[in-house]
Amino acid sequence: MRIAIIGFGAAAIGFIECLKDSKHEIHIFEKSKDVYSSSISGIRADGKLFVSKEMGGNLDVDIQLQKDLVDYYIERTENRKYESGTSFANKDIFKKFFAKGFQPIHSDFYHIGTDQLKQVLYNIYEDFNSHGNIHFHFNETITDMEPIANTVILSNRESFDTVVVAVGRSGQKLIKTIIGKFPELISDNSKVDLGVRMELPDLIVEELNREMYEFKLKYKSKTGYMVRTFCNNPGGYVVTENYDDFVTVNGHSKLKEKSKNTNFAILTTVQLTHPFNDPIGFGSHIAKLTNLLAGKNKVILQTYNNFKSSKRTKHLYRVFPTLEKDSYILGDINLAYPRRIAESIIDFIENLNEVVPGVANDDNLIYAPEIKFYSNRLHNDHFYNLKFIGDCSGATRSIIYATAHGWMMAEKILKG
Ligand SMILES: Cc1cc2nc3c(=O)[nH]c(=O)nc-3n(C[C@H](O)[C@H](O)[C@H](O)COP(=O)(O)OP(=O)(O)OC[C@H]3O[C@@H](n4cnc5c(N)ncnc54)[C@H](O)[C@@H]3O)c2cc1C
Repeated sequence: MRIAIIGFGAAAIGFIECLKDSKHEIHIFEKSKDVYSSSISGIRADGKLFVSKEMGGNLDVDIQLQKDLVDYYIERTENRKYESGTSFANKDIFKKFFAKGFQPIHSDFYHIGTDQLKQVLYNIYEDFNSHGNIHFHFNETITDMEPIANTVILSNRESFDTVVVAVGRSGQKLIKTIIGKFPELISDNSKVDLGVRMELPDLIVEELNREMYEFKLKYKSKTGYMVRTFCNNPGGYVVTENYDDFVTVNGHSKLKEKSKNTNFAILTTVQLTHPFNDPIGFGSHIAKLTNLLAGKNKVILQTYNNFKSSKRTKHLYRVFPTLEKDSYILGDINLAYPRRIAESIIDFIENLNEVVPGVANDDNLIYAPEIKFYSNRLHNDHFYNLKFIGDCSGATRSIIYATAHGWMMAEKILKG
């Protein structure tokens, strides 16, 4: 069978790894110019691998498969170097958070780091490329496709027996085109995660960082919204992330070079009902308003005390940002954020401060906008020869879940 896979990211890796020794002819079309700029969200991903049933996507992924895929990535690092931790395995810590109303999330973490991830991906690419049935086509942006009878024709006029779309979130334009033609593919679109990124001195959270590397918590705030921590980066750096027409904030950490701060996202899940049907529009408008206040292509930075009291920040005190100076302005996030979201975040931080004293210190830093979009959840049984895997399918939100989704789809194809 001639199979095309669109995008060379985490989901494609799982898919190809499972099929590489089969007789299928596999063509990969990737929009980036080479392997160094493609894969796993353009290698901006932090390379933090999780093994958990409680996070990573809305997909049932066997724990053993998750562990095998973590090993797969780790085996391709230089000298198997990584940081690791287990969240909330310690019963006393679990109890402390639980008693204050938090839902601690169990997970194992393996941190490869942004710096090593590039080499890991190159090693994977080299292995795939050495197989005669696998053909890479870089600099190939697929803009549309047409399922006709037993084939699928791509926008570059090539036709295949089966096409697997694995374009992640950066491929939303292609997904939009496909669902524009086949709206029946959508099974759910109502959620967006909107919040801030907090940055504070490592010493405030050093015990948690040491114990579990990443502390994942959920909390039902007094507003009724669920609030959660996401993407904790001990010794990490805050960065901006560019979308087509706005800029958000994000964080990562490296394996070797460390800062003196920890940063993590605090996200509020907004799930609205009929007639609302545009969560991406809702999140984008708030992001654009925040950028407008900050000056184009910048984010807002505020001290926690000023965020709480809705005053513009003019000076910093003991905590200094790791985000580059020309990427932010000191301002007031409350001019852009709905009150219910700001209140949910403040309620979360004040409660967290009772378990981790110092989290609510006046001079800790708050950045906005921090937004995580959920892709539309797509049906995979509508076409027998056009499938969606990884983040673009709405089923995954992490490297291991996306890789597993690809692997599981390939297993189905092998079974016939
Ligand atoms: C800044 C950042 C940090 C992250 N950190 C982590 C982390 O530490 N741990 C974790 O588990 N997850 C992390 N994630 C999430 C993780 O990267 C994704 O969940 C995962 O990469 C999804 O895999 P995917 O294959 O679906 O998409 P991706 O890995 O994004 O791959 C999609 C590929 O498709 C290509 N593409 C897009 N459109 C087209 C097109 N039209 N034609 C051809 N090619 C196209 C892209 O160039 C890309 O190479 C992070 C994400 C971001 C943005």
